[in-house]
Amino acid sequence: MALNWLNRPHIRICLSVLAFFIVAALGTLAISWQTSQGLRRDTTASLAQSVRLVDLTLNNASTAADSVQNLVGKECDQNVIQALRWEVARVPNVRTVNLYRGDRIYCTSLFGKKIDYVSTEKYNGGELLLMSGNPVTPGHPLIAYRRDINGNGVLIGVDGYFLHNILDLLSTHSYLALQVGDQWMDSKGKIHLGENWPNGERIIQHSTQYPYQMKLVIRNGDHWRYIFDYATASLVLFPLLGVFVAFMTYLLLGRFGGPVSALKDALAKKQFIPFLQPVVDGTHHRLTGCEVLMRWQHPQSGLIPPYQFIPLAEESGLIVPMTRLMMAQVRDQFGPLATQLSDDFHFGFNICAGHFKDLTLVEDCKAFLHAFKDKPVKLVLELTERELIESSEITHSLFSALRRLGVLIAMDDFGTGHSSLTYLQKFHIDILKIDQSFIGRIGTDALAGHIVDNVIDLAKRLQMVIVAEGIETQTQVDYLTPYHLEYFQGYFFGKPVPTTEFIEKWLKR
Ligand code: C2E
Ligand code: CA
Ligand code: CA
Repeated sequence: MALNWLNRPHIRICLSVLAFFIVAALGTLAISWQTSQGLRRDTTASLAQSVRLVDLTLNNASTAADSVQNLVGKECDQNVIQALRWEVARVPNVRTVNLYRGDRIYCTSLFGKKIDYVSTEKYNGGELLLMSGNPVTPGHPLIAYRRDINGNGVLIGVDGYFLHNILDLLSTHSYLALQVGDQWMDSKGKIHLGENWPNGERIIQHSTQYPYQMKLVIRNGDHWRYIFDYATASLVLFPLLGVFVAFMTYLLLGRFGGPVSALKDALAKKQFIPFLQPVVDGTHHRLTGCEVLMRWQHPQSGLIPPYQFIPLAEESGLIVPMTRLMMAQVRDQFGPLATQLSDDFHFGFNICAGHFKDLTLVEDCKAFLHAFKDKPVKLVLELTERELIESSEITHSLFSALRRLGVLIAMDDFGTGHSSLTYLQKFHIDILKIDQSFIGRIGTDALAGHIVDNVIDLAKRLQMVIVAEGIETQTQVDYLTPYHLEYFQGYFFGKPVPTTEFIEKWLKR
């Protein structure tokens, strides 16, 4: 009940939105963790694979170099040229095979005898050079492989096409480049120079065979592309889950309000009011007291009878302050009228079993009786036989305190429950109220009459004051009269009415 504030609309909405964001945040966290793990695994695998494939390609160049190595230094005659051309035709990926002496190329597979300069110092590790093209195919990248034998050697041109195809195939979720010295080739075959790399996390793998490295950059956008490719289901699922959790949160918080908070609200607004039903003596049918019966004066629904809210009030514990409210209202209205009440006029209040563990009940009774100190009245607490009071130290001290105050205890609905003689004695029950279901059967059939006789007989033998409840007809009155019961109560004498009406009808007459 203390959590009542949770059902306020703006709190419900705020908490539901919060629940959505918590689920969404957790989902995002899970997806990004999963993605970064997956992406890292996939890209490092691609990286290793790319090194393997580039090594294989360069191995071809190395194979060609092996074959023509013995021609280095020889004259560039027809036989030598033919041998160079033969390698181009034989070995895959090889575009040109050239022989050089010092810093000059002197024999080529393409042009035969031809002098060209070669800047050997540009070769990374003396072995590899990335080129954006050559005089024959200017826009077509290639990688040159150099095999040096004491200042002379072989230069093999490897087609960049194979290399950037490798890069292209293996860079679906990252930026992958083949780096030689300070130059690198991207997956489009474009050659770059310097440090102009895209932003992101870099992973490098060196080739163990050749002086180049493969460099992989996981750019920020790569994560998203990876998520869209591999985690689309989670992307849909988590927001949906978030909406579901938010909705459930909203519904759940609503339950903090509901009927109990409605009761609490009604209590604060004092919408629970006492109706009074007269209790008359069994001989002359003169007013001797009344029973206080609670009603809920609902602003929209009108008067609500107790069976619709008492069970929930008991369950929630609200019955205690509600009963206190009944006592206070009756006390405030009848205290000033005490002199108009007959001697020994009694007020009966219904008390539920749960209330009998609460020592404040004694204080409430004291305050009630105090209001009638100039013209004392009898205060009766009615306990229903359907809910037996458990015997404990608290209940016993409560009963003793009540007895000391002169409060009387009535056993309500007698005959419907399971109270034993010991129970009745242990709790010092003063009054038995024979349940209206027995009275209602009077005159219906012979067996019913028999049962009524037995209940009355039992009550009489317990030697307690007896009230017959629920008397509606003259037949019932006539049937009961010979038993000389102390009190009668029922519609026949008067229905429960609001206090002002009760005062008007019963006290001013
Ligand atoms: P109850 O204590 O047995 O009260 C008697 C019920 O019988 C009342 O119903 C009363 O209006 C009804 N009644 C009285 N005479 C006749 C009659 O001649 N014929 C018929 N058919 N009915 C008659 P009500 O006021 O609807 O209360 C129902 C029950 O609700 C009460 O039964 C009592 O158990 C509970 N209740 C009422 N007020 C309170 C309260 O302030 N506190 C607690 N804990 N329970 C209450
Ligand atoms: Ca009662
Ligand atoms: Ca009753």
